[in-house]
Amino acid sequence: MKIIDAHSHIDFMTHREQMDVVGTVCCTVDEFQWEVLLDMVKHSDKIYSAFGIHPWYIKFLDDGFESRLENLLKTNSSFMVGEIGLDKYKPDMDKQIAVFEKQFDLAVKLHRTIFIHCVGAWDKILHILKQYKQSELPNILMHSYNGNERITNELLNYDNIMFSFNKIDEYYGIGRIQQIPTNKILVETDGKRDVVLSGLINEISHIKQDDDIAETIYNNTLQTING
Ligand SMILES: [Zn+2]
Repeated sequence: MKIIDAHSHIDFMTHREQMDVVGTVCCTVDEFQWEVLLDMVKHSDKIYSAFGIHPWYIKFLDDGFESRLENLLKTNSSFMVGEIGLDKYKPDMDKQIAVFEKQFDLAVKLHRTIFIHCVGAWDKILHILKQYKQSELPNILMHSYNGNERITNELLNYDNIMFSFNKIDEYYGIGRIQQIPTNKILVETDGKRDVVLSGLINEISHIKQDDDIAETIYNNTLQTING
């Protein structure tokens, strides 16, 4: 089984301990981490890099971050955008939206895959998505996906939106896995040591009654990354 971890972080790289994991998408949360990741990718060809400002880390954000992000993305066409998003349980939603929109817009302009964190703000994300034509959007990964059935139906209208999971529980996961087509499902650790990706894939395989799902998920991940 070949697996790519579709969403992890620089300070929690767990792929080294999981034999089947041949690559990891490494997301950043602030500008300091951009520098660390730039250094890490020089020493590894198994890291797929995403640069962004996470909604939990907007408090100390310096002005002009968007032009620094743009310059960074332009240095390498494989660099992606993430982790960016909205979180209802964190302060200053107005600033969260402003920071998210600047980064989202930049990713659309440069056509880079986007890794989104969303907690309790799905209608705001949908509102922003609807400001764009579907054909101009890059690939978008909804990480640690937690939307309800209605939100999922809305998001499934977009060909280039994918969904990744780091756990499958009876409240959300099973229903969502049943609802989402196999060609839109990815798996991730989100940097958590206790997430075993091969076990997660087996659970999904069981729910979908599909023995070949590992290969499909691997291909979904490559397609999401490669745009
Ligand atoms: Zn994350």
